[in-house]
Amino acid sequence: MKFKYVVVGAGLAGLTIAERIANVLGEKVLVIEKRNHIGGNVYDSYNEDGILIHNYGPHIFHTNDKEVYEYLSKFTQWNVFWHRVLSYVDGNLVPMPISVETINKLYNLNLSTDEVEDFLAKRAVEVPEVTTSKDVAISKVGIDIYEKMFKNYTIKQWGVDPAELDTSVISRIPVRLNRDTRYFADKYQGMPTNGYTKLCENMIANKNIKVMLNTDYKEVIDDIEYEKLIYTGPTDYFYDYKYGKLAYRSINFKFETYTKESYQEAPVVNYPNDYDFTRITEFKKLTGQEHHKTTILKEFPCAEGEPYYPFPTKEHKERFAKYERDMKKEKNVVFIGRLAQYRYYNMDAVVRSVLDAFSEELNG
Ligand SMILES: Cc1cc2nc3c(=O)[nH]c(=O)nc-3n(C[C@H](O)[C@H](O)[C@H](O)COP(=O)(O)OP(=O)(O)OC[C@H]3O[C@@H](n4cnc5c(N)ncnc54)[C@H](O)[C@@H]3O)c2cc1C
Repeated sequence: MKFKYVVVGAGLAGLTIAERIANVLGEKVLVIEKRNHIGGNVYDSYNEDGILIHNYGPHIFHTNDKEVYEYLSKFTQWNVFWHRVLSYVDGNLVPMPISVETINKLYNLNLSTDEVEDFLAKRAVEVPEVTTSKDVAISKVGIDIYEKMFKNYTIKQWGVDPAELDTSVISRIPVRLNRDTRYFADKYQGMPTNGYTKLCENMIANKNIKVMLNTDYKEVIDDIEYEKLIYTGPTDYFYDYKYGKLAYRSINFKFETYTKESYQEAPVVNYPNDYDFTRITEFKKLTGQEHHKTTILKEFPCAEGEPYYPFPTKEHKERFAKYERDMKKEKNVVFIGRLAQYRYYNMDAVVRSVLDAFSEELNG
C-alpha cells in the first residue's frame, strides 16, 4: 500500500490533520485507528434506549479562539448551550465555579458582591511561595472552602493529596465576583447539533481520506509505503517504552438509565466529598434531547485503564522530556495531540495546535 501521508489515531487531532491534508494539499491520506470508531475521546453514540451519550465522558465545546470556532463550524452547526455545574457540599447544591451565589449558599448568607470579595480576602491564606495545588487553592479561597470543595475531589481524581501535586493540576481557581453561574466564560460555547461523531464524519468526507479501524498501527505500518507519519498515539508506545511508561489517570465510566424525564438539576453535579465517583453527568441536559427516559454517567477515576489524563509528576515530566528529545530528531514523523505530546488539551486547544503544526510542518 502507498500513501504519502499516514495518520495514527482518528481522534480530533488525527482527523483535523487528515482533513487539512486532503482538502488543502489535495493529497491522499490513510488514518489508522485501533478502536472500532472514529472521534477518539469525543466520540458520542445513541445507547440502546436511543439517548445520545458521550461514551468517554461529557464534552463541552468552549473557546475564545475565533479561528478554531470557525474551522469546526464548517463541519457542524451548534446548539446554544451554556454549561452549568453544581457541587454537592454539606447537603446543598452550590454553583461552580465559585461565585457570589456559591458563598451565600455554602454559608447561608446574603452577601453582596463587595462583601463576598471581602469575605474571601479575609480567609485567603498567605503562602510564602505557591508551589502545590493546595497552595493555589488556599491562597485564593482559604482552608474551609478548599476542604469543602477541592481537597477530596482532587484526591478522588488523582489519587494524591493536592499538597503533593504541582500547580498545573489546580492551576487556578476561578472566582466570579458576580452572579453569573455559567461554568465557562468563553465567547464561543455550544454543542454540535448532531453530535461529535457526526462532526467528525463530516471532517473526513473527502474521498482522499481512507480510515482503517480496529487496527493498531504497528500491525500494518511495515506494509505501507509513506513519506510522512503523523502520530497521535502514546509516545512511550511509539518508542517501545524505552525510557519507561508514562503515567496517566484513567476513569471507569458507569452509565445508568432511568425511566423519568429528569435526574438532576444541572448537566453536571460534582460530588467532592460523598461517594467514590467524582461527578454525575445527565446527557439530555447537555444535548437538549427530549426523551421519556434519561441516561446519567458516574465517573470513577482509577490508575489503570485507558490513558485519559497525563499524570504531571516530576518523575513523569522528566521521563517525557527524554522521549521529547528523540521526537525532535525524527525526520518524517510529526507528533500531535494529547497522547503524543503528553499534555492535557481541551478540544479547541488540540485543534489549534494541529492547525499550527499543519501550517508549520506540512504546508510549506
Ligand atoms: C473525561 C474527559 C472529558 C473531557 N471533556 C472535555 C470538555 O468538556 N471540553 C473539551 O474541550 N475537552 C474535553 N476533553 C479533552 C478532549 O477529549 C481532547 O481534547 C481530545 O479528545 C484530544 O484529541 P486527540 O486526538 O489528541 O486524542 P484522542 O481523542 O485520545 O485520540 C487519539 C486516538 O489515537 C488512537 N490510538 C492510540 N494508540 C493507537 C495505536 N497504537 N494505533 C492506532 N490508533 C491509536 C486512540 O484509540 C484514539 O482514538 C475531555 C477529555 C476527557 C478524557
